[in-house]
Amino acid sequence: MKAIRRFTVRTVLPEALAPLEELAANLRWSWHQPTLELFRDIAPELWDELGKDPFGLLGEVPPARLGELAADTSYVARAEALRDELRAYLSEPRWYQGLGPDAPATIAYFSPEFGIADALPQYSGGLGILAGDHLKSASDLGVPIVGVGLFYRSGYFHQSISREGWQLESYPVLDPDGLPMSVLRGPDGAAAQVVLALPDGKALTARIWRLAVGRVTLLLLDTDIPENSEELRTVTDRLYGGGGEHRLLQELLLGIGGARAVGIYTRLAGIPAPEVFHLNEGHAGFLGLERARELVGDGLSFAEAIEVVRAGTVFTTHTPVPAGIDRFEAPLVQRYFSTDLLPGVDVVDVLALGAEDYPGGTPGTFNMAVMGLRLAQRANGVSQLHGRVSRHMFGFLWPGFDAADVPITSITNGVHPATWTDPQLRELAESRLGSADATSCDWTSDAVSDAEIWELRGRLREQLVHDARRRMTTAWAEQNPGVAAPIWYRELLSPEVLTIGFARRVPTYKRLTLMLQDPGRLRALLTDPERPVQLVVAGKSHPADDGGKRLIQQLIEFSQDPEVRGRIVFLPDYDIGMAQKLYPGCDVWLNNPLRPLEACGTSGMKAALNGSLNLSILDGWWAEFQDEHNGWAIPSADSAGDAAERDALEAAAMYDLIEHQIAPRFYDRGADGVPTAWVADIRHTLATLSPALSADRMVREYVERLYLPAAAAEHTVTADDAAPARALAAWIAHVRASWPEVHVAHVESGGVDASPHVGEELRVRAFVELGDLAPTDVVVELVHGRPRSSEELTEVHVVPLELESYDLGKPAVYTGSVTFERAGGFGYTVRVVPRNALLASDAELGLVALAG
Ligand SMILES: *Cc1c(COP(=O)(O)O)cnc(C)c1O
Repeated sequence: MKAIRRFTVRTVLPEALAPLEELAANLRWSWHQPTLELFRDIAPELWDELGKDPFGLLGEVPPARLGELAADTSYVARAEALRDELRAYLSEPRWYQGLGPDAPATIAYFSPEFGIADALPQYSGGLGILAGDHLKSASDLGVPIVGVGLFYRSGYFHQSISREGWQLESYPVLDPDGLPMSVLRGPDGAAAQVVLALPDGKALTARIWRLAVGRVTLLLLDTDIPENSEELRTVTDRLYGGGGEHRLLQELLLGIGGARAVGIYTRLAGIPAPEVFHLNEGHAGFLGLERARELVGDGLSFAEAIEVVRAGTVFTTHTPVPAGIDRFEAPLVQRYFSTDLLPGVDVVDVLALGAEDYPGGTPGTFNMAVMGLRLAQRANGVSQLHGRVSRHMFGFLWPGFDAADVPITSITNGVHPATWTDPQLRELAESRLGSADATSCDWTSDAVSDAEIWELRGRLREQLVHDARRRMTTAWAEQNPGVAAPIWYRELLSPEVLTIGFARRVPTYKRLTLMLQDPGRLRALLTDPERPVQLVVAGKSHPADDGGKRLIQQLIEFSQDPEVRGRIVFLPDYDIGMAQKLYPGCDVWLNNPLRPLEACGTSGMKAALNGSLNLSILDGWWAEFQDEHNGWAIPSADSAGDAAERDALEAAAMYDLIEHQIAPRFYDRGADGVPTAWVADIRHTLATLSPALSADRMVREYVERLYLPAAAAEHTVTADDAAPARALAAWIAHVRASWPEVHVAHVESGGVDASPHVGEELRVRAFVELGDLAPTDVVVELVHGRPRSSEELTEVHVVPLELESYDLGKPAVYTGSVTFERAGGFGYTVRVVPRNALLASDAELGLVALAG
């Protein structure tokens, strides 16, 4: 029978246990081990059953047990001490508070998903986990972020596997009353709401859930309320659920509704409105249009408003895979913006921002990543390699510039240490190295012995083996009710065997089944009598991706072969809870994407924080961090003839590494049973990688390199009733209109003969037609480097030229010089680019005039 309504009846906590309520209400518990232990001790079995969920636990625990604890003075004292510690954490100055008065007072961070805790399944994969880690590190550092997202009633799907090895999806409905969040209310107690005008006179209304993630507030919009029609109530039903229109509605809500929700929240909380808006991928890009609407309402033109929006917006692109970028049919977007949705904003201007009006673009398509880049003055990729790839991939927005000049920088992702480091490793760090912050310890020190490190790694492996057996047994019971699990499940995997892990979503480029390229070879590795290997695999396929489901099925079929079945296992329902045991328990973390399609990849980072070594294609973060002592690089067969040959070559290289390098080193034991060389690599990994891979490092970089400059730019253009923004918009219009007239008329060179020597000086004089522009509107530059066969310059240097003379009616004359510093090929050209102090880069407008 199905209930027509459901809600959670909450326990009344005894007075003495009031601190538990306060602790459960702040998601800080998700990364604070002592708080987790405080809750676990209430009812350890129920705790495991509910999956580490303090809020849920308080709802289910029998009142008698609570009475008992309320009478236990030492338990009550522990709860009070932890509550006091939380209050101090929430109020004391942290890193950000030392930055001075110019640091922005509020920063809004928009993301379509947030992976914070298992109990709150509002993520599908890397993007969401990263957003969760961003909020957690921001909290630890005191960065005043307000997160904005959607509350999905069913979150992402729960995965089970049929007897045929086929992925089955289910969508358990979450009960908001059972989660640590509360409805945002006005002073009169009424629920705050945002309303979006829709076509045909309809409207979409959403309430706003408020969550505390340590010091950070997270706002989640929810359309499942009686004010909406049945159909509109389902807008926030699932993460990435439906197709075009459903998705567009979600993104309109996230961007436009989200911007309105932040406004409502900051007013109610009495804190300043955000100065910086960070878009975690393009899904929330419509927020820029909502901000433009507000500014147009304040009297700016759309073009002027866009300059204000751009100044304060930061855009992070997360994927070079075209299918990963959101695109809509332009007519659909047009229909939604030809309404009262954004009064004062012309639909033509909206469509222009997302138009693929460049060579290679698809007419009639609205591209969210392109809009994100056009609405943000600052943009970044998520690893150095991905930054380079993105500069090429989006170079069409800055025509005439080399990829190196494209204004997209990179900040390499990081992971939140307290969430992703196993508590046992942190205990070892604390007892031997003096700090539970394992990322700040000197792991090369003698204060911790090889034997201790190895013993810990053994415990982590064993913990994973037990967790895997438990999960497989539970999955069996679900699939075969009443039938006992096979005996061999009890011996599934071994706590002694070299363990390799692989878990991720299953899009094609991640190549889940690369390991099956040569089944005979894999079988030999798994069953080697001297140096066996075992594999733990997990991952979800997108519900609509049957190709991905077939890959999972192939893997499961292989893993059921009686010869290997104890040594390879596919664990269903990959999620945060599984991941927290999986990464620490694996000796080696495997990643084999098609380079360069993995923008960063973070699971390998989480493995490294626990002393696991990486075995990976040189893609994403690994391309910048791999060294000889933290793992192994699988060479990319970039020059292979086709995809099949490439897979075969890369798989063979992977098998070779496992057979000839990894297994021998793992099984090379001293008299004490410790693999000394392997432990040295663990020490090196922990000492060098963990600080660099921490999300604290990442968030500090975002603050210093993007948020502070964006806030300064926003202040500058909005000062004096936005006079600078108005002037900038007028200047840009003038420069664009005049640019066709700008060109380098001719260039004279002197000072050297036809075959110059090192140390000689080349003098250059350029005659430049400026049309209607003044010399102060531009810079003229000598660009030199090494010519390649195509005459493209590499190793480029830019030298500004000086204005020598400027007479009306004649070309302006610019001069400068460069000294030859090394022998070999030399090439140069002269270029003119617009220059304005309010632009973040000379390439920003995509305008350049080149000599010749
Ligand atoms: C870290 C994590 C991911 C992302 O891992 P990638 O290596 O970036 O693919 C996905 N899902 C979960 C549960 C994670 O913890």
